[in-house]
Amino acid sequence: MDQHAAAFTDPFAEIRQEVAKLCARFPGEYWRKLDQERAYPTAFVRALTEAGYLAALIPEEFGGAGLTLSAAAAILETVQAEGCNGAACHAQMYIMGTILRHGSDAQKRQYLPKIATGELRLQAFGVTEPTSGTDTTSLRTVAKREGDHYVVNGQKVWTSRAEHSDLMLLLARTTPRGEVKRRTDGLSTFIVDMRASLGNGMTIRPIRTMMNHNSTEIFFDNLIVPAENLVGEEGRGFRYILDGMNAERLLIAAECIGDAKWFLQKAADYARERRVFGRPIGQNQGIQFPLAKAYAQMRAAELMVRDGCAKFEAGLTPGEEANMAKMLAAEASWAAGEACIQTHGGFGFAEEYDVERKFRETRLYQVAPISTNLILSYIAEHVLGLPRSY
Ligand SMILES: Cc1cc2nc3c(=O)[nH]c(=O)nc-3n(C[C@H](O)[C@H](O)[C@H](O)COP(=O)(O)OP(=O)(O)OC[C@H]3O[C@@H](n4cnc5c(N)ncnc54)[C@H](O)[C@@H]3O)c2cc1C
Repeated sequence: MDQHAAAFTDPFAEIRQEVAKLCARFPGEYWRKLDQERAYPTAFVRALTEAGYLAALIPEEFGGAGLTLSAAAAILETVQAEGCNGAACHAQMYIMGTILRHGSDAQKRQYLPKIATGELRLQAFGVTEPTSGTDTTSLRTVAKREGDHYVVNGQKVWTSRAEHSDLMLLLARTTPRGEVKRRTDGLSTFIVDMRASLGNGMTIRPIRTMMNHNSTEIFFDNLIVPAENLVGEEGRGFRYILDGMNAERLLIAAECIGDAKWFLQKAADYARERRVFGRPIGQNQGIQFPLAKAYAQMRAAELMVRDGCAKFEAGLTPGEEANMAKMLAAEASWAAGEACIQTHGGFGFAEEYDVERKFRETRLYQVAPISTNLILSYIAEHVLGLPRSY
C-alpha cells in the first residue's frame, strides 16, 4: 500500500473487529430484556472488563492497556454501532482520569490496578444536584473537615450506576461560596466507598427514566469520608473535574457516532428489503434523503471527534473541538435515529426491531453530560469572544 493510501486505513480496525466479536455475544434480545426490567448489564460489563476494554486509558504500570483516547473512542463507538449500550459502564473509562492526573501515588496504587481488573468498579460520578443543575458551582453538598475525616451532607441527582459501583467520585463544597474569591474555588473531589457508605450516612434511590440508564439520586446525611480520600488539593476539585471533561465529551461523541452508524445500517438494510407499491421503499428519495443527510452529518461529526482526540493526545486542551464534537455527534445520532424510525414505518415502534430502544437511548446525549445550549454558550463565549450570557 502506498503511503497516501496508508493515511486512510483505520489504525483501530483490529480493536473494532474484536469489540464487535464480543458484542455479538450480547444481541438485541439481551438488551431488550434488560430494558424491560430496567436491569444492569452485568454480564456485558464483565465481558468488557475481562477483555481489558474498560481499562483502555489506565496506564500499563497500573495494570491497564495504556491506549490512546482515539482507541478508547473506537471501542465505545463500536459498542454502540453493534447495537449494545456502553452507557452502563463508559464512565469507568474517564472518571479514573481524575485519580490518575490528580490523585496521590498511594491512591493510584490503591485504586487503579483494581479498577483495571474489575475488582473495583468506579462508575459513579456525583456532580449534578437538584437545585443547581448545570450551574455546578452553586452546588450545595458540603464536606466539612473534622480531624481525620470529612462529614458530607447534601444531595445529588442523576447519579448514574450508583447502585452498581463500588466507588464514586464526589464533588462537594469544602469552603462556603461566600468565602471564596472565585465561585469555582472551594469545591473538592472525594473518592467515596459506596459499599461502606450505604446505610451509614448515604442512601440511594433509583429514578426510573425513559431508557435503561440505572439513574439514581443520592442523599448524604453526616456521611463520614476519610481525609485520605480527598483527591488532590482541597478547594481545587472543580478544576480537576473540568480537566476530565474534554475526554468525557469526546468519548460520548464517539458513542453517538456509533449509534448513528447503527441506525443508518439498520435503516438502509430495511429500506432495501421492504417492498411497498411493488418496489423497495429505499428507491424513494423521500426515504433516501433523510438517511443520506444523517450520514453526511455523522461523517462530519466523526472528523471533529478525530480532531479533538488528536489534539488531546498531542497534549493540547481541545475544549472547542470536544464541545463541538459532542454537540454535532449527538445531533447526527438523533437525525439518524429519526430517519431510521421513519424508514421502518410502524415497525420502528415494535420492540423487537430495537430501533425504538436505541432511539430512546441516544436522545439523552443532547442533554447529558452537558446540554446543547451550554455548548453553544461555550462556543459563543470562549471561541467567538462574545459576552458571557449567564
Ligand atoms: C439519564 C441521565 C444520566 C445522568 N448521569 C449523570 C451522572 O452520572 N452524574 C452527574 O453528575 N450528572 C448526571 N446527569 C445530569 C446531567 O449532566 C444534567 O441533567 C445536565 O447537565 C443538565 O442539567 P439539568 O438537568 O439540571 O438541567 P438544567 O441546568 O436545569 O437546564 C434545563 C434546560 O435549560 C437550559 N439552560 C440552563 N441554563 C441555560 C443558559 N444559561 N442558557 C441557555 N440554556 C440554559 C439547559 O440547556 C437545559 O436544556 C445525568 C442526567 C440524565 C438525564
